[in-house]
Amino acid sequence: MSIYSESSKISIKLDNILIIGNGGRENSLAWAIQKNELVKKIYLIPGNAGSERINKCSRMEIDINDKNELADKLEFLKIDLIVIGPEIPLANGLADFLRKKNYKVFGPGKDGAKLEYSKSWAKEFMQDANIPTANFWKVNSLEEAKKIIHSSTIPLVVKADGLASGKGVFIPESKEECFSAAESIFNGKFGNSGDVVVLEEKIQGPEVSVFALCDGKRYTLLPTAQDHKRLNERDKGPNTGGMGAYSPTPLVNEDYLNRIIKEIIEPTIEELVKKNIDYRGVIYFGLMITKSGPKVIEYNCRFGDPECQTIMPLMDQNFVFLLEKCSMGNLTGNEKIHTSDKVSGCVIATSKGYPHEYKTGYPIKIGKIDQFNCQIFDSGTTLGKNGELLTDGGRVLSIVCQDNNYDLVFEKTYKNLKEINFDGIYFRKDIGHQVRKNFSKKN
Ligand code: AMP
Repeated sequence: MSIYSESSKISIKLDNILIIGNGGRENSLAWAIQKNELVKKIYLIPGNAGSERINKCSRMEIDINDKNELADKLEFLKIDLIVIGPEIPLANGLADFLRKKNYKVFGPGKDGAKLEYSKSWAKEFMQDANIPTANFWKVNSLEEAKKIIHSSTIPLVVKADGLASGKGVFIPESKEECFSAAESIFNGKFGNSGDVVVLEEKIQGPEVSVFALCDGKRYTLLPTAQDHKRLNERDKGPNTGGMGAYSPTPLVNEDYLNRIIKEIIEPTIEELVKKNIDYRGVIYFGLMITKSGPKVIEYNCRFGDPECQTIMPLMDQNFVFLLEKCSMGNLTGNEKIHTSDKVSGCVIATSKGYPHEYKTGYPIKIGKIDQFNCQIFDSGTTLGKNGELLTDGGRVLSIVCQDNNYDLVFEKTYKNLKEINFDGIYFRKDIGHQVRKNFSKKN
């Protein structure tokens, strides 16, 4: 009997769910949410070509920036819970607007989203709460940046303060590269997002992602994950939105997780409360495991992509209750998330050229896919005139599998990938190399 059976008896209405966003992340959320028998219909605005392959899902073409049109349509649809996937609408205050209209919303308001949309604000927040993170300097001009870079005796990382689609972080190899990174940001490479620059001490260690579902005061954790950000094998090449992931990560055992909770997660939530920020959504902690302990590299105010696609298949049908409880501010804090005892891995199939220039519109052929514990979540796809599936983004498909160990997971994932083809398909063959016992460096 599940721990949520009681809550399901007290007639929660979850007939109609709305998910905002158009990526693999939102499709995987829909896939996990549809498992619950209370859920009758899931709308995705705008979703993508893969959304309607998911049970109970329909897409809607509504401009979310036209808030009045959105409000009118939602009234008609009788939506019981709204889940906002991406950071931009959260940073633009969409959750605040919808809450004012009395909707239950999973996703922080503009105040909470600032953890992601202003890196300097997030650093000051961590400083206020004594949360371990790399030392930093907030700078408002190139002159100021130059002085700090010139006098620095430690390697620095250069970051645009605001949202930059994951492209605003530079890891320079020299002071010259540091100057030119700061210069390009101040010269408008990221528009207003680069009005302020954060210079940060470069720290070292493996990275892990931790996700806390919050209801404003309490939280519950999802399984940990590790993603591969670099484009090429051996974790080389430019940073991307993510080329693959696996969950959970063996790097964080129970003791270490308790340390992360004590030093990072609880102080973050306490500081939000102290600052009167009623954070109802997920906090994604991007952490580095350094020699001196865990440090926060970044906060995000939404689920990670592809970590979300990787974690969602481990959730059981009660997942949607957690989202609802967060939206209502009534987590007990004692929820034990029902996850499968399997491990999960995800590989992203991308368009040739990504994360730089790439072409779209190529037909996607999908052969015989293993249906057992495997999912394909569309990340960037569209339908052609005759209903054919076409590429429509840099990251095209997320191929996700679960099994008893990572060797089996990735064996299955790569076997399925052999059945998928489109012009210029590129994917890394070494996703999860750290956890694959049978992985040979020659692969
Ligand atoms: P972010 O967008 O802040 O997650 O940064 C992107 C990537 O840059 C991170 O995943 C890290 O690999 C790297 N990075 C960010 N900040 C630092 C830092 N202070 N030291 C070393 N690497 C960093």
